[in-house]
Amino acid sequence: MPILVMKFGGTSVADPGRIKAAAEKVRGEVENGSDVIVIVSAMAGRTNELVGWVDSIAPFYDAREYDAVVSSGENVTAGLMALTLQEMDVPARSWQGWQVPVRTSSAHGAARIEEIPRANIDGKFADGMKVAVVAGFQGISPEGRITTLGRGGSDTTAVAFAAAFGAERCDIYTDVDGVYTTDPRICSKARRLERIAFEEMLELASLGAKVLQTRSVELAMRYNVPLRVLSSFEETGASSGTIVCGEEDIMESRVISGVAYSRDEAKMTLTAVADRPGIAAAIFGPLAEAGVNVDMIVQNISEEGRTDMTFSCPVPQVTRAEQALQAAREKGQIDFAELIADTEVAKISVVGIGMRSHAGVAARMFQALASEGINIKVITTSEIKISVLVERKYMELAVQALHDAFELDKAGQPELAAKAN
Ligand code: ASP
Ligand code: MG
Repeated sequence: MPILVMKFGGTSVADPGRIKAAAEKVRGEVENGSDVIVIVSAMAGRTNELVGWVDSIAPFYDAREYDAVVSSGENVTAGLMALTLQEMDVPARSWQGWQVPVRTSSAHGAARIEEIPRANIDGKFADGMKVAVVAGFQGISPEGRITTLGRGGSDTTAVAFAAAFGAERCDIYTDVDGVYTTDPRICSKARRLERIAFEEMLELASLGAKVLQTRSVELAMRYNVPLRVLSSFEETGASSGTIVCGEEDIMESRVISGVAYSRDEAKMTLTAVADRPGIAAAIFGPLAEAGVNVDMIVQNISEEGRTDMTFSCPVPQVTRAEQALQAAREKGQIDFAELIADTEVAKISVVGIGMRSHAGVAARMFQALASEGINIKVITTSEIKISVLVERKYMELAVQALHDAFELDKAGQPELAAKAN
């Protein structure tokens, strides 16, 4: 029997009525001839509530007990989903992570899945069970304690089951009907993509398109598990949603797939830093130790042995970054004239695997921003992404201008010259 993995996020199992609607979709796939593994999240808002309770009792909590508490939301929805299916005469059974068992590392709160033995679930399928409902987000450590996989982790549970069971597909049901060229809330011309490459999705996921947990996309790419993101609130058919797959499976030729943004960025500049070997390590070492997520880094050319160093980090981490750098200065590890924090910037990125083979993407991007009078403060590039920092008040305008410039509202896109080899 072909095996299909169907994952339902928190809004898709928010109450018994929603669970019933999700179960109808599962029954449809069973009637189409699949054995199904359903992965469920906790009801919408439940995990936040559990985390809040833990914080209110123990701000410096024991991570093992944190996991014992926050994993529980998924136990409820797994049982309710199995019951709902049974009421529809679909043979179903639920599993908590430890019962499968989903073996993970012992990194409580951010555990990694190490192994999913198939025997338990396969045995039940052989006995006539049609649907295995598994609580997402959780597993068991080598020490026998319950672990969780990090927020949004039930996506990763779903992909890991799809890989372990050789599923033909992994459908991720959520509250949006797919992956868009950009955020439809700030750009009305945003278009649903039929397909997107794993690598592009990874860039978009880590840039804050919150549809899929980044780790789940990495895993899907490694095991080549095609994902489909689709809405549990709509009638869905074969062409619904967005398929996330290997680039060899994408026919549509396009250079850019999406425009992503991250609103709360800060631009930090250290002026008149001594330009000597080891200076970058001396600056970014303490930042890393302080847990600052440094993203873009730019070092200027130096004059008279002094240079400026600029980096970006999330606004909530600015104070931590400042403290780490001042401390390093007091210890004599680094020396600078001023530390300037600009907390009024946003990051905008264009992403597309077509950049590898086409020239002129950067020029078109900068031209579009220039036409709107938007000043670029920092630029960085990678193989499939160009990112800029701009003043935050221009963020929406910048996203719309770039969406227009690359004609992302249409399936075909403006011709850009092929890169010479
Ligand atoms: N319930 C967990 C969370 O809210 C896991 C998930 O939904 O993916 O983070
Ligand atoms: Mg999620």
